[in-house]
Amino acid sequence: MRHVGPDDRSALDHESPREACGVFGVFAPSSQVAHLTYDGLYALQHRGQESAGMATTDGAGVMVVKDMGLVTNVFNEYKLAGLQGHLAIGHTRYSTTGTSTWHNAQPVYRVTSKNPERFQPLEFALGHNGNLTNTESLLADAGMLPGTATSDSDVIAELLVRYLDAHPEADLVEALVEVLPTLQGAFSLVLLDNERLIGVRDPHGFRPLCLGKLDQGWVLASETPALDITGAHFVREMDPGELLVIDHDGPKTVRPWPEKLVDPKLCLFEFVYLARPDSRLYGQELHGARIRMGELLAEQAPVDADMVMGVPDSGLPAAEGYARQSGIRYGHGLVKNRYIGRTFIVPDQAQRTQGVRRKLNPLHGAITGQRLIVVDDSIVRGTTTRAMVKMLREAGATEVHLRISSPPYRWPCYYGLDTGTRAELIAANLEVLEIQEYLGADSLAYLHLDSLKKATGAPGAGFCDACLTGDYPADIPVVLRREAEAGSPVA
Ligand code: SF4
Repeated sequence: MRHVGPDDRSALDHESPREACGVFGVFAPSSQVAHLTYDGLYALQHRGQESAGMATTDGAGVMVVKDMGLVTNVFNEYKLAGLQGHLAIGHTRYSTTGTSTWHNAQPVYRVTSKNPERFQPLEFALGHNGNLTNTESLLADAGMLPGTATSDSDVIAELLVRYLDAHPEADLVEALVEVLPTLQGAFSLVLLDNERLIGVRDPHGFRPLCLGKLDQGWVLASETPALDITGAHFVREMDPGELLVIDHDGPKTVRPWPEKLVDPKLCLFEFVYLARPDSRLYGQELHGARIRMGELLAEQAPVDADMVMGVPDSGLPAAEGYARQSGIRYGHGLVKNRYIGRTFIVPDQAQRTQGVRRKLNPLHGAITGQRLIVVDDSIVRGTTTRAMVKMLREAGATEVHLRISSPPYRWPCYYGLDTGTRAELIAANLEVLEIQEYLGADSLAYLHLDSLKKATGAPGAGFCDACLTGDYPADIPVVLRREAEAGSPVA
């Protein structure tokens, strides 16, 4: 079993887009599924390291355990033993809305009010990957005071419980059919009540969600490695705009949105960076797609050099592809300390630079006297890439040519990634040559958008590329845009 955690991504990932969340669900009659859910969450740890949680039910009541920290910190044998039942959902979180507090850890749990018309209060739990763009108007329309809900996931749960309280004859699926079309933005959801596991993908399918089959049961997961680790066979990716209800009769699809609103726009950055290399999306394994990104980058932006190296870990497959296509020797020039946490929480640039040095150390013997091609997946702010270039030069590199396996990241993401404001995005404010000068590189080139889409292996499929083009597939309220574009000279 491969460990996937904070140290499994690019060492510069604090300046790459930050992940939103991972979700997992399982329905397996006659089994205890807490350990299986733990394994699923372990495989999804890379999608969020701030908090983790799990809700289970044996049909008689919902139990929730959640806390700040990694999956391995939050759960132990004692806690797992208390999580009884054949039905579970789980969540790993990185906050994109709401603060990073215990209260915002997921799954979110709700129970309806006592009502004589309902045989017994209805309990449910919800896990969310994505980001709503209309929480303000949802709160206003529902007459909720600001602060009623502390995250957009909390808003969804609150809207559901309000609907259920007002319609005691309704069940959770009916509530979802009413509430989901009012939501805008990105949401891949898993939910459970005492009888059913439910999966939802928004009509654009910004975030992934797939269905797997156990010998006796079903699994939902953000990424396919969470199926693999639990022994589930991949069945299919859920459709954008699909609500999937799984009970003793198997999965059943409900479509709460009219067909004309369904427009697939899977996040292109799932291919570039977010999802694990062993994940499969649009039928493609991402490791192969990332190698192709490097091959196309070599065709598009060749340079004479002695060695191609990647920034560990997520820059490595594209570096391999670049080397293969260019015929220039592939080598390792940086060693990564795998036993420290992420560095993105450091508050100022001096500490951030130190954070890079804590994570990466140059291999002097491989670098000294060499003209290097250094491949990474993205540059968001640029500060740590600059520190890395300096470090490579100090280690003896005679030239450093940066090659990036995605186009310049110019626009903020509103669909579940935290990239900061436009003022913080280096490519929103500087031209490529200016970025090259700021980073201290001898040359800099980014992969073209059409080449990136070609490299996915599914060039005709629907992708969101808004952070690269500014072409947002789902409306962004003016107030949100104003906040994210504040301070940008091109806003
Ligand atoms: S804006 Fe960028 S990061 Fe956000 S969903 Fe679209 S492609 Fe992904």
